[in-house]
Amino acid sequence: MEPEALKVLQDYKLRRQVKYVCAKSQFYQQKFKEAGLNLADIQSSEDLRRIPFTTKDELRKSQENHPPLGFHMAADMLRIIRIHSSSGTTGNPNFVGITRRDHKIWTQITARSLYTQGVRSSDIVIHAAGLTFFVGGLPVKDAIEDIGAAFVPIGTGASERIAVTAPLLGAHVMHCTPSYAIYLSDYLKNKKGMDPKELGIRKIVSGAELGAGIPSIRKRIQEDYDCILTEGLGNSDAAPIIFGECLEQAGMHFCAQEFILCELIDPDSGKVLEMKEGTKGELVYTHIDRECCPMIRFRTRDHVEVWTGRCSCGRTSFRVRCIGRTDDMLTVLGVNVFPSAIKDVIGSMVPRVTGELLIQLKEPPPAVKPPLKIKVELGKDPGDLVILKKEIEALLRNRLTFSSDIELLPSGSLPRYEFKAQLFEKVYEKRGAGLPSKG
Ligand SMILES: [Zn+2]
Repeated sequence: MEPEALKVLQDYKLRRQVKYVCAKSQFYQQKFKEAGLNLADIQSSEDLRRIPFTTKDELRKSQENHPPLGFHMAADMLRIIRIHSSSGTTGNPNFVGITRRDHKIWTQITARSLYTQGVRSSDIVIHAAGLTFFVGGLPVKDAIEDIGAAFVPIGTGASERIAVTAPLLGAHVMHCTPSYAIYLSDYLKNKKGMDPKELGIRKIVSGAELGAGIPSIRKRIQEDYDCILTEGLGNSDAAPIIFGECLEQAGMHFCAQEFILCELIDPDSGKVLEMKEGTKGELVYTHIDRECCPMIRFRTRDHVEVWTGRCSCGRTSFRVRCIGRTDDMLTVLGVNVFPSAIKDVIGSMVPRVTGELLIQLKEPPPAVKPPLKIKVELGKDPGDLVILKKEIEALLRNRLTFSSDIELLPSGSLPRYEFKAQLFEKVYEKRGAGLPSKG
């Protein structure tokens, strides 16, 4: 669609969506009232910035005060066909419901993203991620089947099953987190004496965490399997996969043009940033075709860099690379540091280190006092340990401008994760353990 025609459609759908939420959701009625806004004030995407943001905290409170789905739900429970969890590794899960229409749209956006990531109808796809509760499971199954590919629901914790099944089926595509791709590769090499290349996986479609976009991790996974790795980015409150990276591997294409509006903001001031080449900021989503749990200006906490130039694959949509979560960002003497950047620097030292690391936080983030303590695992060929420690510290100082204190640990001493990697060791929480909680 030509950009002008698309804008007309988006603005029409935005007006319709705003009218809908103001009629159906107490949450948004309240929000509009507090901001002194009328329906007529929102005519086009330029007016979006007049509406206050919606935050995860607000959704949590909305759900607590109006169970099960919250004041923002906007559709009758009778019309809801599925409920997922949108977060909740700790505490109560946050629920997100979808109607039949929402389900269709989720499938369409997710299929489009996965197709962009390289999934085709001729593919047999090993699903080596969770199937239950979270949106990276069933919605991905729906989308892969929608493309016409064959979906193989293996799930997590089944590395042995993958080692046997993938070659037997001749499956060349695997959907998993980057952490799991590394975990499985180590498992095959160390436990099975098998070269990961023999698995026959030639395309890994990943998501759910940063990693595939970190150059040293991408390089390692692609070399281990002799495959091409692409990544996707979604949001459980918005849609399962919204951005998909094409085979050019130059960032993830936006794939939800007529369903979601994207804004980029400065996370500190909330100011809207222009979507142009090289801009960095936090993604904000607004549904323009959603019945249950619609999000209006939802702050994702995802920090991205944007590219707007035409991609050599021919797609015209803008692209992003996720730099990190706003929640994971550290500030060392005023310098913003994302764990993904540290992981990339450490990863560039493989095979002298394994690439695994743990950042020790002595006080609650984001502000940390230098030197930042980082535990790093020794690889196969570390050389002189005193020199190695100094080299890593110098590399971090030169590339990321902060001072670190590297502690070298024997290979295999840091925990491995089959799902999402944990990069922080929060010492201040351990210290507080046993004390009465202050809430
Ligand atoms: Zn492209």
